[in-house]
Amino acid sequence: MAGNWKMYKTASETTDFFKEFGTLVASTSGRDIVICPTFINLSAAVEATKGSKIEIGGQNLHWAKEGAYTGEISASMLVSVGAKWVLIAHSERRQMFGETNETVLKKTVAALEAGLQPIVCVGELLNEREEGRTNAVLEEQFLEGIAGLSPDQFGKIAIAYEPVWAIGTGKTATPEIAQEAHAHIRSLIEAKYGKSVADKTRILYGGSVKADNAKTLMSQTDVDGVLVGGASLDPKSFASIVNF
Ligand code: PEP
Repeated sequence: MAGNWKMYKTASETTDFFKEFGTLVASTSGRDIVICPTFINLSAAVEATKGSKIEIGGQNLHWAKEGAYTGEISASMLVSVGAKWVLIAHSERRQMFGETNETVLKKTVAALEAGLQPIVCVGELLNEREEGRTNAVLEEQFLEGIAGLSPDQFGKIAIAYEPVWAIGTGKTATPEIAQEAHAHIRSLIEAKYGKSVADKTRILYGGSVKADNAKTLMSQTDVDGVLVGGASLDPKSFASIVNF
């Protein structure tokens, strides 16, 4: 159950969130909880969640180990402040910051080499869905991106299916749409890496997940978790999703 805070919250708002959220999920068991704050608030988040089951992730990284890349953050820098996870290829990065399937693969390899668990996002635009190209787009993002991982590497990643038309729009994919896309992604994994890797890969749904739709989405066979933007900013609302 992952939260993507995008470019929201200051350091003190981060600490305040965890004071309340930590209590609300203190007795939650049987699920991994990850929050991805902005880079600058990673340390505050790690500090605020020490000793709890909540884990912290970055929202992006650079694939180089270090170097002259002004404004960028490496995998080992994320690890050094206590991050355990990292989001890669969020559609906002693909649309606004030049993320390509090629950079997605490089970033995923770099994250794995540093010991981070990547959550790699895929998903189609509205016009691609309307033109009946959803499966083809997912296939392209998979084959040109993460299918370049070795089976061992692939076994360590999670995937988030995030239809771009559902992100921040209030338009959630129906459980059936989510299930259909997740099943397709799992079939792509099976074709490339075999059934046991496909069965154990966690595929998260993201796109306007809220407390009132989390349970129906999570009841779909191939939906193993959720990646939540807006509704993860409020401790009560994200706790209801986590405890769906
Ligand atoms: C996201 O940013 O990954 C996301 C799914 O956003 P929202 O839940 O706000 O649609």
